Amino acid sequence: MGNYLFDLVRARIPAPDAPFALLDDGRRLSYADMVAVSARFANALVALGVKPGDRVAVQVEKSIEALMLYLGTVRAGAVFLPLNTAYTPAEIEYFLGDAEPAVFVCDPARAEALRPYAEKAGAKLETLGIWRSPEVSAGTLADKGLAASPEFADVARGADDLAAILYTSGTTGRSKGAMLSHDNLASNALALVDYWRFTSKDVLLHALPIFHTHGLFVATNTILFSGASMILLPKFDPDQVFRYLPQATCMMGVPTFYVRLLQDERLTKAATAHIRLFVSGSAPLLAETHRAWRERTGHAILERYGMTETNMSTSNPYDGDRIAGTVGFPLPGVSARVVDPETGAALARDEIGMIEVKGPNVFKGYWRNPEKTAAEFRPDGFFITGDLGKIDPAGYVHIVGRGKDLIITGGYNVYPKEVEAEIDEMEGVIESAVIGVPHPDFGEGVTAVVVAKPGASITAKGIATALEQRLAKFKQPKQVFVVPELPRNTMGKVQKNLLREQYKDIYAPALKAGE
Ligand code: AMP
Repeated sequence: MGNYLFDLVRARIPAPDAPFALLDDGRRLSYADMVAVSARFANALVALGVKPGDRVAVQVEKSIEALMLYLGTVRAGAVFLPLNTAYTPAEIEYFLGDAEPAVFVCDPARAEALRPYAEKAGAKLETLGIWRSPEVSAGTLADKGLAASPEFADVARGADDLAAILYTSGTTGRSKGAMLSHDNLASNALALVDYWRFTSKDVLLHALPIFHTHGLFVATNTILFSGASMILLPKFDPDQVFRYLPQATCMMGVPTFYVRLLQDERLTKAATAHIRLFVSGSAPLLAETHRAWRERTGHAILERYGMTETNMSTSNPYDGDRIAGTVGFPLPGVSARVVDPETGAALARDEIGMIEVKGPNVFKGYWRNPEKTAAEFRPDGFFITGDLGKIDPAGYVHIVGRGKDLIITGGYNVYPKEVEAEIDEMEGVIESAVIGVPHPDFGEGVTAVVVAKPGASITAKGIATALEQRLAKFKQPKQVFVVPELPRNTMGKVQKNLLREQYKDIYAPALKAGE
C-alpha cells in the first residue's frame, strides 16, 4: 500500500521542472522542489518521533514552509491539524488538550507564551521559521528540514486513514475536530479539478489563509491534483492582487475579497483579462456583488458551497448559467437533499428546509466525539449540515439562512454562543445576545447586546476591552450595546430576529461616515 493522497499528487506531476509555486519575494518552486521540500519536513517530523496517526498541530503565519509542512505531515502518515492564527493562548490550550498532538508547531514569536500549553498536552513544541529570513529560521523546524534528507519513503496510508483534522466551532459546546480522510480530500480535489476544468497550465492567485478548508484544501489541493501552479501571497492585499492578476488564470476568494476589489478603481476588464475563473465561497456572495463584478470585468463569479466537515458539496456550473444567489448543483458523486429539519422527511422542490449531503467528500466524524457524530448523521448516511435552504426546479441549491445562528464575518465563522459565554461571565452582566448584522466590509459584523445588573457600572467600552484578551480578533464584537432587557417569545427564547432588525443599520456606510 502506498500513501493514498500523495501517490495521487505524484501521479499528476506534469514534469519535475514544472512550476509549482511562485512567491511574492520572487522565489519559485518546481514540482521537484515540492517533492524534495515536503520530504525534508517528513524526515524532520519522523526524527521528532511522529508516528502514523499522530496529530501535528500547527499555528503559524501563512508561508510556503507551512504548506510544505502540511504535505510532509501527510507523507509521514500523520494527521495535519491547522489552527487559526488569530486564536489566543487560552483557545490554543483547549485545542491541544483535545487533540493531544505529538508535536505542536507555532511561530517563533509565540513559543514562550504557548510552551506551557504544549507541555501540559504532552506535545513537543517546535517553531517554524522561514528560509528567506535565516535569523528567524535558525533552530526551527524549517532549519531541521533543511538539514534532513530530500528523500523520503512515504508512509503507507489508505483511503480511509486520516489526513487532517480541522476544528469547527460548536453552537452549544466547544469546537469539534472534523476528521478528514485521505479520500475525503482526494475525491473532492479530483471532482473540483474536473468540474472547474483545471489543467497544468493554470496559475492560481492564492491569497486565502491556509488554516481553513478553503485555502488549504479547495485552493491548494486543486492545484496539486491538476499539476497546476500558484502564486502564493501571504495575505489578501489589493495591491498584490492587482500586481499578480496578469500572471494568473484563476482566483479563489471569500466574498469580502470581491467586495474590496470592487471598491478599487484598478478593477477593469483589462486587469482581469488573463483570468478564466473567479470562484467565491465560505459565505454568501451578494447577488449585487455578482452583478457589479460581471459589469466591471465581464466575468461571472462562480459560487460554490461547502463546509469544514464536507469539503465542497455544490458548485455553480463551469459552462451554463452561474446564477447569483445560488450555490449551484451537487458536485459529481455528491448527493444533496432538503428535508424537514424535525422529521427528516424529504421536501419538494422550492421548499425550504435543512440541507443534507452524502458522498466521499463527507468527513469521518468528530474527533473523540461519537455522540455528536451520531447526532449529525441520518441513518442512511446523510450529514445534517445545519444550513437551511432549498433546491429550485432547475436543480440549483439556494442557502437561505443558517439554522444555528452562525455569524460569518469576513469569511470566518463566529458562533454567538461562544462570545455570549465570555460576556455572561463578566462581573455585572445578567445575560447577552450576540448577533450578526449586515456590514459593508465583512458581510456581517459581530454585535453584542448586553443586559446589566441593576446598579452595575459596566459600559459597552469596558466589555469590548475585556473581550480583547479572551477572544480572537475576528470574534470580538464590533459594537456592544447595553440594554435594560432582551426581547423574548412566549417560550422564553430570546428573539434574535428582532435584535437583528433593530440593529440592522448600525454598520451602514452613511452611519460609518458620521452622516
Ligand atoms: P466552514 O466550515 O468554516 O467552511 O463554514 C461552513 C459554512 O459556511 C456553511 O455551513 C455555510 O453556512 C457557509 N457557507 C459556505 N459557503 C457558502 C456559500 N457559498 N453561501 C452561503 N453560505 C456558505
